[in-house]
Amino acid sequence: MQEIRVELTDHPKPKPTAADKLEFGTFFTDHMFVMNYDEGEGWHDARIVPFGPIELSPAAMCLHYGQSVFEGMKAYRAVDGRVLLFRPDKNMARLNSSNDRLCIPLIDEKFCEKAIEKLVSIEKDWIPSAEGTSLYIRPFIIGIDPHIGVHPARHLVFIILCCPVGAYYPEGLNPVKIYVEKNYVRAVRGGMGYTKTAGNYAASLKAQDEAEKQNYTQVLWLDGVERKYIEEVGTMNVFFVIGDEIVTPELQGSILPGITRMSSIELLKSWGMNVVERKISIDELAEAARNGRLKEAFGTGTAAVISPIGHLKWGDEIMDINNGEIGPISQRLYDTLTGIQWGKIKDTFGWTVEVK
Ligand SMILES: *Cc1c(COP(=O)(O)O)cnc(C)c1O
Repeated sequence: MQEIRVELTDHPKPKPTAADKLEFGTFFTDHMFVMNYDEGEGWHDARIVPFGPIELSPAAMCLHYGQSVFEGMKAYRAVDGRVLLFRPDKNMARLNSSNDRLCIPLIDEKFCEKAIEKLVSIEKDWIPSAEGTSLYIRPFIIGIDPHIGVHPARHLVFIILCCPVGAYYPEGLNPVKIYVEKNYVRAVRGGMGYTKTAGNYAASLKAQDEAEKQNYTQVLWLDGVERKYIEEVGTMNVFFVIGDEIVTPELQGSILPGITRMSSIELLKSWGMNVVERKISIDELAEAARNGRLKEAFGTGTAAVISPIGHLKWGDEIMDINNGEIGPISQRLYDTLTGIQWGKIKDTFGWTVEVK
């Protein structure tokens, strides 16, 4: 395994205080991890260096053709003071799945997990401890060849940034309003929907912008071919409780395979609940809402963990779910996942990794 060279900053920044709202993705810690790839040499020169601007040719390929992948994960300050990561191996495996799709050279997953642990360990004092706060970790890889031609990059850089973030729900777990997107699609099978790559988010901005103008939090995407089957919500996977079945769309290439989704399915199964991954059409959902069988709906993702959906709009049809209140299954998943992440309950699944 490569050594990681460490160069500490001479100018540590003041840490944000409780008065700072810790708006998502705004404050960055003192250091970042950087590693280069050059054809013939592989990934090399792993280092932790002071956070700061990087130099890039204006011709850098990532800027023109979007050869760029990322991950999103968190380090949690447990109630007993330990620092925990949640299933970091799954993030690294997903990064390689994204890499493969975008012709980015694969990373050594174990080594990169160690790099994250080392960076988080150095930035330990940046991890806030107030209820619900955490250190968001953003690994990403970009192709940097100074060359305006469409082909896979031969020179890339892998960077990991960290930012302290506030509680997602400072006022408690309030259900959100979502509408079903009819004009735009996010991804199609055979495309890049299952990867965390920059272009997928560029493709989603227009719909998100229109949703916000209408006072909705996010959109519910339908499949790009028939515009019929439910895919996911903004940057979250989605679950519905219909009768005694908990349904989430099956992964078939256009949906992001969320780690919170995976963990929720494993938890629900461990509780003996009837959770199924299958196709679910918007017509089936609306029908279930009409006859009172749609009991709960919620999104899952690292940022919010569980985000209950209280109001869903499909054209002229409004589905009010559980009187706009959080349901018992959403609440139990939220309490259990956050309980494991913040070390409040015993991690019997072995999902957490302690950073020393
Ligand atoms: C990251 C992401 C998710 C959620 O994945 P987690 O691993 O649970 O954070 C869902 N959908 C999209 C589009 C995403 O980018």
